Amino acid sequence: MPSFICTTCGVGFALSDTPPAHCAICADERQYVNAKGQSWTTLAELQATHTNDIRELEPGLWGIGATPQIAIGQRALFMPQPGGGVLWDCTPLVTDAAVAHIKAHGGLRAIAISHPHFYSSMVDWSEAFGGIPIHIHEANLPHVMRPSDRIRYFTEDRIDLGQGITVTRAGGHFTGSAVLHWPGLDGKGVLMTGDTIMVVPDTRWVSFMYSYPNLIPLPAREVTRIVGAVDDLSYDRIYSAWWDRVMTSDAKARVRASAERYIAAIA
Ligand SMILES: [Zn+2]
Ligand SMILES: [Zn+2]
Repeated sequence: MPSFICTTCGVGFALSDTPPAHCAICADERQYVNAKGQSWTTLAELQATHTNDIRELEPGLWGIGATPQIAIGQRALFMPQPGGGVLWDCTPLVTDAAVAHIKAHGGLRAIAISHPHFYSSMVDWSEAFGGIPIHIHEANLPHVMRPSDRIRYFTEDRIDLGQGITVTRAGGHFTGSAVLHWPGLDGKGVLMTGDTIMVVPDTRWVSFMYSYPNLIPLPAREVTRIVGAVDDLSYDRIYSAWWDRVMTSDAKARVRASAERYIAAIA
């Protein structure tokens, strides 16, 4: 039995002979059902038609996406580490080439995922590396479409994945939305934020939304809480949900300024 993958959001569902009746992730107002109607694919189909797009983003950090783009264009971020690295967020496509690339850089010991729009083929990624743990905040459990023993639901506001990498629940976009902090090889600090803190096309700024496709903002108290949740971390750069949504310097001050601009705009 395959895991059917929704073509609009890229999320894989529990193994079944026939596709689910609908996609609960897309039915939620933080996503959308494709105007052409619900459709499904499988990992085997994607492997036959797509390749993993693997790019070095900065020293010690790789992005892994897909060509051509799948669903909302998810790309994972891979930090090699001694004894096995960490994969942040996920993509629907996992190929032998991507697994070989990661193994050539020390392998993988853990996966952590910001929020449901990036759950994609997380269980297949875990199994490709011997069943490594997938760390997800417990508040997002209702949005897990493919339950698995590989998932470790955390309840703390911050967990330590070792070697300087932490995952912090920041909330906002989803109650259990999380961000990853990595020191970076230069030690200045890197925040990986998924959709929680979104770098916008003018990459000197970020924004915060309940729903990006439906343009539903967050209230001021949530924006203040998100910024507060990461304020004790030092960080210089932000990698948010997509390839081009990267802030390359002075990120902590820019997040504070962006929150002030946002709250003033919605007041
Ligand atoms: Zn969907
Ligand atoms: Zn999202």
